[in-house]
Amino acid sequence: MSEVYHERAHGRVNLIGEHTDYNGGWVLPTAIPQFTEVRLTKESGNSAHVTSSGNRDFTYTLGLEKKTGTWIDYLQGGTKFLSEKGRISGFHANIHSTMPEGSGLSSSAALEISFLKALRKAFQIDLNDVDLALMGQRIENEFVGARVGIMDQMAVRLAKNGEALFLDTKNLSFERITLPLDVMDLIVINSGLSHQLSAADGGYNQRRAQCEEACALLGIKELREIDLTTLKSKTLPPILARRAHHVVSENERVHAAVKALKEKDLHTLGKLFVESHRSMRDDYEVSIPQIDRLVDLCLLDSGCYGARLTGGGFGGSIVAITKKDHGKRVSKKVIEQYLKETGLSATSLV
Ligand code: ADP
Ligand code: MG
Repeated sequence: MSEVYHERAHGRVNLIGEHTDYNGGWVLPTAIPQFTEVRLTKESGNSAHVTSSGNRDFTYTLGLEKKTGTWIDYLQGGTKFLSEKGRISGFHANIHSTMPEGSGLSSSAALEISFLKALRKAFQIDLNDVDLALMGQRIENEFVGARVGIMDQMAVRLAKNGEALFLDTKNLSFERITLPLDVMDLIVINSGLSHQLSAADGGYNQRRAQCEEACALLGIKELREIDLTTLKSKTLPPILARRAHHVVSENERVHAAVKALKEKDLHTLGKLFVESHRSMRDDYEVSIPQIDRLVDLCLLDSGCYGARLTGGGFGGSIVAITKKDHGKRVSKKVIEQYLKETGLSATSLV
């Protein structure tokens, strides 16, 4: 029997620092238990045969990768770019995942990274972990057409359970911050509404373009470079002013959140979550009413310190922190009320 190369990558939940990564800013993700795994066996010839749940099955010829606008692109981009580093020949890859797709928890990065890791191992390709993460981002940027930043791939590759990864997305330096799980619970609830459009043609790329426009008018390279006081002294068209205000204030919130985590100051951390959500809802306009409702239902509970939309938005999931041992109760109550009001089945993930 031929050898099976088995690799796994976990999803991530971003605690705070949303839409900052493609602006050279800071993010604070942590790993979630859900994962994607790839079992790969080498085969003779030059064909890639890939299968995934939902009867997804596809065969393509290595070296002839072509964009299709479907799930295959994450894999075709992988073989196309990895073969620049070493020779890849025929294989069968079977993908299995416990991740919800399109829910802001990075199933796409978990897919790319687990697949690249399996190929790297099977074909003995010399590539370090940071370069592997950068290749994952390149797959989304250049092959899929989603202009994502580097957070997801770095988080999926490096984040650990029980720790937040305080990542500077400009120079990729990071610090691991222990989550004070002795005094709080972390909860993640998937709204059941995956983002309607793929990042490639949705509002995500438009937001990124607006940030670039704001930078050009401000005479800077990246929004990372300015603080809130400087931004407020400048004049921008109203929509760009709001977009920039979100990014610049969100960067400041990430730093404040790291301080609050270290001090176990959960009231401050919760307040930062709420401010971040309002900023995404009002300034960045990436929330939807159902997500706003999930956040509000959490905040109605006295056991909850704070809640916010997590991930790129336009659907997806929320993240919240509660008093220790209140997480399960709050999740259950919020999910029941949400079902009553909207008819939608949300699910608790953490
Ligand atoms: P997110 O990364 O937040 O889950 P994306 O829109 O970035 O959302 O990625 C979701 C897309 O990734 C899916 O529509 C699908 O094309 C692809 N994908 C993710 N996981 C899998 C999987 N296990 N099998 C096949 N395709 C997957
Ligand atoms: Mg993604």
